[in-house]
Amino acid sequence: MEFQSKVIIEPFQVKSVQSLDFTTRDERSAALKEARYNLFRLPAQKVLIDLLTDSGTSAMSSEQWAALQRGDESYAGAKSFQKFQSKVQELTGYEYIIPTHQGRAAERLLFSVLSERRGSTAEPQWVPNNSHFDTTRANIEAVGFRAIDFVSPAAQKVQEAIPFKGNMDVEALKKFLESTPRSQIPVGMLTLTNNSCGGQPVSLENIREVSRLYRHYGIPFILDACRFAENVAFICRDEEKGRMPAEVAREIFSLADGCSFSAKKDALVNIGGFLALKSSDWVEDLHSQLILTEGFPTYGGLAGRDLEAMTQGLDEVLEPAYLEYRLASLEYLGKFCEQKGIPYLKPVGGHALYLDAASFYPHLKWSDYPGQSLALSLYLEGGLRSCEIGSLMFGRQFDGTEKAHGVELVRLAIPRRVYTQSHMDYCLELIEFVFHQRKAAKAVRILKEPKRLRHFTAEFSW
Ligand SMILES: *Cc1c(COP(=O)(O)O)cnc(C)c1O
Repeated sequence: MEFQSKVIIEPFQVKSVQSLDFTTRDERSAALKEARYNLFRLPAQKVLIDLLTDSGTSAMSSEQWAALQRGDESYAGAKSFQKFQSKVQELTGYEYIIPTHQGRAAERLLFSVLSERRGSTAEPQWVPNNSHFDTTRANIEAVGFRAIDFVSPAAQKVQEAIPFKGNMDVEALKKFLESTPRSQIPVGMLTLTNNSCGGQPVSLENIREVSRLYRHYGIPFILDACRFAENVAFICRDEEKGRMPAEVAREIFSLADGCSFSAKKDALVNIGGFLALKSSDWVEDLHSQLILTEGFPTYGGLAGRDLEAMTQGLDEVLEPAYLEYRLASLEYLGKFCEQKGIPYLKPVGGHALYLDAASFYPHLKWSDYPGQSLALSLYLEGGLRSCEIGSLMFGRQFDGTEKAHGVELVRLAIPRRVYTQSHMDYCLELIEFVFHQRKAAKAVRILKEPKRLRHFTAEFSW
């Protein structure tokens, strides 16, 4: 009989290590006070396990570090660019590849060029999506366009484990496209996975329907493909079983006309991004903008070595063993919470566990910021840094009023290939400890806040 393990092991071994910084509860209590109870203001050496974000926090492989050494730093036409360009062309099937320093730079280029090409028009300009990520929305609004979300109604049901909750609500999109003149929709988008809605994936069937709709109405279709590989992993596991990830990825890209991409997620690097397009229509204008603000078209704000690391990362992220491990490591967190009755957003998505702070702390109102209170307890009791995603982040409206966000979540984003299972066991034990103390949870009050994006810099009492 052949040995077969039920354990899905990390498909890598550790080669280089970075020490963790241990602190006492008293030290953390002082650090919190110093940081005005805002976890973004904490210095990293006061954090034991950092689950603030999965963006730009990946561990690179030995092959990626070796690739850095091969970086060609020629200003124009670098060998590293040629390799990068071929890799992205092979992955996406798109011909025109524009490197940028990160995802939002690709977004800014795209929308500033689209707005230039529109000229001054009195008509509103709409950009539909399943859910716009905050930088995408901000870049759309910065050029005077309007961002609009059509997320599947399943996304509202936090406690129900419905697959592919990240889907576009195609009925709502169809109604919108039927009733809005073509001249008012410069571009249509779809975000994979749906970051603003818990990292939930979009099904291949949904991507095909969205593609059919945009094509039918003659609207260019641009993917926000930051976590395309994690989205592919869900499709291979739950929808099109047995297909190879690289092949599913190619099919997805073939359904759209281009993509924007932050390499800080699914290219397994610490900085980088790109815009890739099927047609040459916008490319001349994009290159002019790129040269103005990012750099020459063959490096776009990056070093040759960064392009090399991205090229290698794009191969590694689609390895079946990596993707199987990535989903299994997230599921592990969900299973624990399920067993212990700890409320979380179900099912777990591709890059984070989201605790449902409103259910943790039913005695706190949304305006007591239960998510922030929970995130502060996780840090104080165990040195774990997470991020509130609720009324603190989204409650302040453009007109200055304050409104409940609807869900009060705490995101524990898992950096790729960084932490081991025992680190995760530590976090889970800590979550359980804090859950048992939930009746004593205190409200958070805002002492000082800026006009926009207050969660990054506001000061609180707790
Ligand atoms: C991170 C992210 C972006 C922006 O990318 P940056 O590299 O952080 O600028 C855009 N869209 C989605 C869905 C993201 O997760």
